Amino acid sequence: MTARIIDGKAVAEEVRQGVMKGVEDLVKAGKPRPGLATVLVGENPASQVYVSMKQKACAEVGIESYGQVLPATASQADVEGLVKELNADPRINGILVQLPLPAGLDEERILSAINIEKDVDGFHPLNVGRLAQKGRDPLFVPATPAGVIYLLQKELPTLEGVNAVVLGRSNIVGMPVALLLVRANATVTICHSRSKDLPSKVREADVLVAAVGRAEMVRGDWIKPGAIVIDVGTNRKDDPSKKRGFRLVGDVAFDEAVEVAGAITPVPGGVGPMTIAMLLQNTLRAAKMANKMA
Ligand code: NDP
Repeated sequence: MTARIIDGKAVAEEVRQGVMKGVEDLVKAGKPRPGLATVLVGENPASQVYVSMKQKACAEVGIESYGQVLPATASQADVEGLVKELNADPRINGILVQLPLPAGLDEERILSAINIEKDVDGFHPLNVGRLAQKGRDPLFVPATPAGVIYLLQKELPTLEGVNAVVLGRSNIVGMPVALLLVRANATVTICHSRSKDLPSKVREADVLVAAVGRAEMVRGDWIKPGAIVIDVGTNRKDDPSKKRGFRLVGDVAFDEAVEVAGAITPVPGGVGPMTIAMLLQNTLRAAKMANKMA
């Protein structure tokens, strides 16, 4: 069997088109254009790239972006002060503090300073807590996990009762994905670096989400035939045939898994494009909430 390839790029484009239309509808209704503030502290090159990708994506759907850059020497008070100014600025609907922050800054206190109604990254402890509680709803769900669930639900409209295995328990991917799967009534197993006998756990999975950051760790013979595989991993693998000397691979050995799975996301072109699309969707939602339209 050869798995269906889940085209994250195409799905993300559909989401972006929906956001673009939503933005235009707001503007036509006489409301201000949604605004996203990005806060970049220091000069981490990867963070600079991510922030500029997010700003470009905002421009493409008609969302204003407000780039804020602080030096790596910025103090805790400087960063929290900036967040508070952005909280008070009515042009800003969403605030995104690019992680990781330079060493020495208290990430939790900075994320807690964001107004929960502008927490479009969904990392405010209140939003995370609500995600984990029965009967409570977060205002925003973190973008990558939201993208994972969006892709899964396109494949399987109901996740009720399925055996889902999540590899990884990080705050930004593994744990929120697992919580979202529980909310969708899946039966969830969370595996991490101390888990024993991963292959046998993974073989039980109707749905597998891999977010460990280990190139091609999950082999084809770990996959249950027909399973849906969402590969969040984005890892560099040496490849002298490429100009840059490497290519990107996932946590799943794609060429093997594609022969066994029912559907699978490629890397790149799977979960990656969904992350920014979901951030845009969260920003539109924040703007609608600010205008009492959501
Ligand atoms: P982290 O390093 O924060 O977390 C990795 C998780 O995997 C941890 O829970 C860790 O366990 C677990 N783990 C590590 N090694 C093993 C192992 N050998 N066996 C089982 N579990 C293991 O990574 P992130 O969650 O931030 O990212 C995961 C991957 O997803 C990375 O490749 C990253 O680049 C990618 N990513 C992609 C995004 C996208 O938009 N496509 C967005 C964010 C991340 P423990 O908790 O015990 O340490």
